[in-house]
Amino acid sequence: MPQRFSFLSLARGALDGHRSWPEQWRSPDRPDADYDVVIVGGGGHGLATAYYLAAEFGVRRVAVVEKGWIGGGNTGRNTTIVRSNYLYPESAALYDHALKRWEHLSTALNYNVMFSPRGVLMLAHSVHDEQVFRRHICANRLAGIDNEWLTPAQAKAFCPPLTLAPDVRYPVTGAALQRRGGTARHDAVAWGFARAASARGVDIVQNCEVTGIDRDAGGAVTGVQTSKGPVRAPRIGVVAAGHTSVVMAMAGLRMPLESYPLQALVSEPVKPVFPCVAMSNAVHAYVSQSDKGELVIGAGTDQYISYSQAGSLQILTQTLEAICELFPTFRRLRMLRAWGGIVDVTPDRSPIIGGTPVPGLFVNCGWGTGGFKATPGSGHVFAATLARGEPHRLAEPFSLDRFSTGRLIDEAAASAVAH
Ligand SMILES: Cc1cc2nc3c(=O)[nH]c(=O)nc-3n(C[C@H](O)[C@H](O)[C@H](O)COP(=O)(O)OP(=O)(O)OC[C@H]3O[C@@H](n4cnc5c(N)ncnc54)[C@H](O)[C@@H]3O)c2cc1C
Repeated sequence: MPQRFSFLSLARGALDGHRSWPEQWRSPDRPDADYDVVIVGGGGHGLATAYYLAAEFGVRRVAVVEKGWIGGGNTGRNTTIVRSNYLYPESAALYDHALKRWEHLSTALNYNVMFSPRGVLMLAHSVHDEQVFRRHICANRLAGIDNEWLTPAQAKAFCPPLTLAPDVRYPVTGAALQRRGGTARHDAVAWGFARAASARGVDIVQNCEVTGIDRDAGGAVTGVQTSKGPVRAPRIGVVAAGHTSVVMAMAGLRMPLESYPLQALVSEPVKPVFPCVAMSNAVHAYVSQSDKGELVIGAGTDQYISYSQAGSLQILTQTLEAICELFPTFRRLRMLRAWGGIVDVTPDRSPIIGGTPVPGLFVNCGWGTGGFKATPGSGHVFAATLARGEPHRLAEPFSLDRFSTGRLIDEAAASAVAH
């Protein structure tokens, strides 16, 4: 077991200049020859799945194989907005399952994931926006999920840098507020799950790319080929986000996914000026302030599909124009850096969680622009699905076969780009 963090251990660490902290998780150079479950992808969802498999479902011979470094995909690239105010009961239940876990995650993992429920404000700029948000509020409340309507003046009181000037391109006509929503620290989420999973026997193997999926004569999976040799396992969970189509094609499956670059950027750090998360779907801009003081700004997806991990400049300039119009005091800030991640988008903008037509092959993908918020819930229901071989109750509506049965969960309004 890793050393537990406590007031005393932190004080001891401070006294010796933080020189004696042990390694936080084991990092074997190569995978073993066989496991009960192999998880492809060491992002937050893959690591959370491995943790819950070991911690709650008693499956301990688990490997997470990651082609780069853990958290180096979308988990370490996202703007960390956490909320659960989705429209349909299936999605709201899944995201709220996650939000309830966020509320206790630092304690459960004994690792500070810096979850900060500072409130997520979704700005309305038109009658249409207002109708959509009010519908969400009613639906959420019926499901017991907090969401409330604010007048423009109430929105301004909650988020003082917001302008209510009537002559801007997108005047604010009100806002929906989920007070339990907020942010968490993305790296810490990957590291916290890795540390807790490793302590329960999970092998996390970095720089280990899956290059093939092995199957027997009956078509069932028998293991994976990796850049560090073959690994046998009767169950494989693919959690590869923007590269899911590439991995699933190794088993001959064509996924209903498109992969797009999605960008974010941060400003120079400033003193605390922004107390909440504010999002505007109409102008495709999202902003919060990190604990380091940087404004964390999210943009929209590019219009074209790509694996480039960089996006086009005009998306960033449009986003910054929108931010400067909504929050005029930010006009003088300098931007520090921008980056992109590849998001996997389904036709109905809802994730895919569960089994596939290939026996033993499971997939958790399609979280698109908004899967960080789901990390603990997604990992939990996917672990249950992998361990039992049948879908967790909350995962059931998100099966792959909904694209042939037509039982879609159309969250385009809630999650097309909204984080
Ligand atoms: C700019 C940006 C902003 C975002 N903002 C938000 C937000 O504010 N809120 C929110 O909820 N969501 C947000 N998202 C979406 C969110 O980041 C993702 O939905 C979520 O992090 C996906 O987690 P994951 O673990 O599935 O994927 P990842 O963290 O991408 O992990 C997948 C891993 O699989 C690995 N992999 C791929 N192929 C292979 C292979 N062949 N072999 C081995 N490993 C492989 C990759 O290297 C990667 O590490 C944002 C995304 C981006 C890009």
